[in-house]
Amino acid sequence: MLVAACSVVAAGAVSAWLLVRSPGAGAPGPRPVRACDVALPVLERIYNGYVPGRSGDVLAAEQPEDAFGTRHSTPYYYTQHIPLVLYGPGFIRSGLRVERPVTMADVAPTLAELLHFDAFPRRDGSVLREALLPRSQRNGVPRLIFTLVWDGGGWDDLEQWPHAWPHLKHLMTRGVDSTDATDGSSPSITPSIHATLGTGAFPRHHGIADIKMRVHGRMVDAWQHGSPRYLRLETLADLWDLANGNRPLIGLEARDHWHLGMIGHGAAIPGADRDIAVLDALGRLRFTTNPRYYEMPPLRFNALGVLARAVRTVDRRDGALDGRWLGHPISGDDPKVRYTPAWSIYQTDRVIALLQRYGFGRDVMPDLFFTNYKTTDLAGHEWGMTTPEERQDLAEQDRQIPVLITRSTASWAGTATSRSSPQITVCNPHLPPPAAGT
Ligand SMILES: [Zn+2]
Repeated sequence: MLVAACSVVAAGAVSAWLLVRSPGAGAPGPRPVRACDVALPVLERIYNGYVPGRSGDVLAAEQPEDAFGTRHSTPYYYTQHIPLVLYGPGFIRSGLRVERPVTMADVAPTLAELLHFDAFPRRDGSVLREALLPRSQRNGVPRLIFTLVWDGGGWDDLEQWPHAWPHLKHLMTRGVDSTDATDGSSPSITPSIHATLGTGAFPRHHGIADIKMRVHGRMVDAWQHGSPRYLRLETLADLWDLANGNRPLIGLEARDHWHLGMIGHGAAIPGADRDIAVLDALGRLRFTTNPRYYEMPPLRFNALGVLARAVRTVDRRDGALDGRWLGHPISGDDPKVRYTPAWSIYQTDRVIALLQRYGFGRDVMPDLFFTNYKTTDLAGHEWGMTTPEERQDLAEQDRQIPVLITRSTASWAGTATSRSSPQITVCNPHLPPPAAGT
């Protein structure tokens, strides 16, 4: 009994020290901090992410040193600092570094400017004007704007593995690299930040406070049942679609409904059509959507054995086709395949299939497509950012960049792709219209 009691006490003491350690303060124990003692950018991010009535009554602003384990949703620069890259010959400047602070709220107004969509309302974000060529020098309006998100792929991750993302690095030098970009609000969490990307506003205006939030006294999921009812602002995609009689194609490929804020309300807006949203049903080997507001083509999981092939590719990289990846079982029949590089290979295949099936970028009406690559986030949560699993997932996401740009532009009715150099992506280059009969 004595031994057991001692063990419990010892374990308790260690955990308590880890949880309450107050960096720099010298003494253990939580240290209450007055709001006016918090650095202004940190306070601003908390303010931007606070939704009265929906956010918590007490907000935890844990410092990175305290966020031991696998969390990355803090208001501090260490987890807020993200790469933000624009690329698109004929539209975006080349070889420019933007060093002023920018946030995820600046993406939507910048894309609106690329679309010459002057009716897009002024919100929290502003146009990254220095990144764009003047309108008179642009090749008109892009036929497809492709937005790629690396989930959990902030600068903390990139700096941890500086040699794992050569394609992104190359893209930074060929397009515009924003060196001081942040999410801009806290908690920097999936539903909130993706809604910021879609609307150009922070949570305090778009209303998506967190993954779970309080609405009229009830705890709900931000996208309960895949419904956009809690998103208070229309997205750029919503407004662009409506302004053009629903002719633009709007598409999303992502893990689950927490990413729907990139495209928005679908058919929930009077007069709007159902946009394309292919969501990966968590924990199950199938895809899903909410057919009331969105649509998806009939998709069979692992159609044509693409996933099985990707699994074999990743499995044999260590020289042995043994059903294991870094010691973990890997199989196309196991939902945990989503944590491995095979999933990114498979995801690119799905994205290209969607672009081809619906004809994104094929006519002169500009389309918008959004996707989120999630393995960096999942591996970070599961094993930690400093593990070989994270490095391999990051490297695979990076490898998919040239594949995406080459295959997506090649799918445009067989037109020449010579203007799109094989490194990619936030904005695809404008291509000439397909020749008659192709
Ligand atoms: Zn995460």
